[in-house]
Amino acid sequence: MFKLNSLIRPNILKLEAYSSARDEFKGEAEVFLDANENPFGDLNRYPDPNQSEIKKKLSKIKNIDSNQIFIGNGSDEVIDLVFRIFCEPGVDKALTFSPTYGMYNVSASINNIELLKLPLDKNFQIDTDQLGAYINDESLKLIFICSPNNPTGNCFNKASVEYILNNFKGIVIVDEAYIDFSLEESYISKVNDFPNLIVCQTFSKAWGLAGVRVGVAYANSDIINWFKKVKPPYNVSTLNQQAVLDRLKNRAQFEIEKNIILNEKEKLIKRFEELDLVKKIYPSEANFILIEVSNANEIYQTLVSQKIITRNRNKIVRNCLRITVGNSDENDRLVNTMEKISRELVTPKA
Ligand SMILES: *Cc1c(COP(=O)(O)O)cnc(C)c1O
Repeated sequence: MFKLNSLIRPNILKLEAYSSARDEFKGEAEVFLDANENPFGDLNRYPDPNQSEIKKKLSKIKNIDSNQIFIGNGSDEVIDLVFRIFCEPGVDKALTFSPTYGMYNVSASINNIELLKLPLDKNFQIDTDQLGAYINDESLKLIFICSPNNPTGNCFNKASVEYILNNFKGIVIVDEAYIDFSLEESYISKVNDFPNLIVCQTFSKAWGLAGVRVGVAYANSDIINWFKKVKPPYNVSTLNQQAVLDRLKNRAQFEIEKNIILNEKEKLIKRFEELDLVKKIYPSEANFILIEVSNANEIYQTLVSQKIITRNRNKIVRNCLRITVGNSDENDRLVNTMEKISRELVTPKA
């Protein structure tokens, strides 16, 4: 039997949550003299601490209860909160599969938690056989699964993810930052089947709102209640909440832009296939492509000198660059420059 409370840190179990001025009355109000706000201005009032309007909309779109949704200041806040809620600093551990998103490691370090990194196999898939030694370790509290994975671009096999969900007694975070670009089904539909599952999504990628800093966690309401207790009361600003609500009004435009990006991705792949300096193009279910090139450091620097910035992942996947799919002008400029580098820098094959 899964007992959530046995996974919560003792100090968090005892936590008396902050009760904001607005939380403490029920009913209608007209005069607000409770929160030491300034009576003048347009942004003088504190934002809705519960982000109710956003949750109402997402609840319909994602077909899940409002009380199974948490809104964070970016996914980064969600990731930090899972460490703070579940992991005792210096004692507990978390696990992920490398190479993957760097924030799990940064957040683990900030919270003084050891993050174990199991290498993905040669197809960038999870090797569940390697998990045996760790999955029953009581100090292991979290497993992070990033699918589609950053920087490799692929989704993980359903069988491995479900193996972990079924066999691990701690919390499983499935980070779906790129799921809108993928044909795979979201794990949101599994939240009611697995009491230890947290699905993490974001407005930063397919929704085009990286500047707004809004991330979302979907989980059973008990987990969500712990998030609400531990988060700063006003974690998402009025302007940021409004930007999300405006964007959610026009889902047709979202679909149009997403399809343009997917189309541009296919065009980019075709053009990469024609370039000598591209040695390998990894399959991608995201809005970026991982490519292996002849010399990543050199090509990265040459692109920088032409004012084109890609992500050099040489240190974590040898000679690989991660290229975000831009608009057609940006992509043209990238490929044209790479063609030029191909001709000038790379010594022709004998
Ligand atoms: C970009 C990205 C995010 C988004 O983080 P935000 O804080 O919501 O901007 C989350 N996870 C992964 C794997 C990402 O690549």
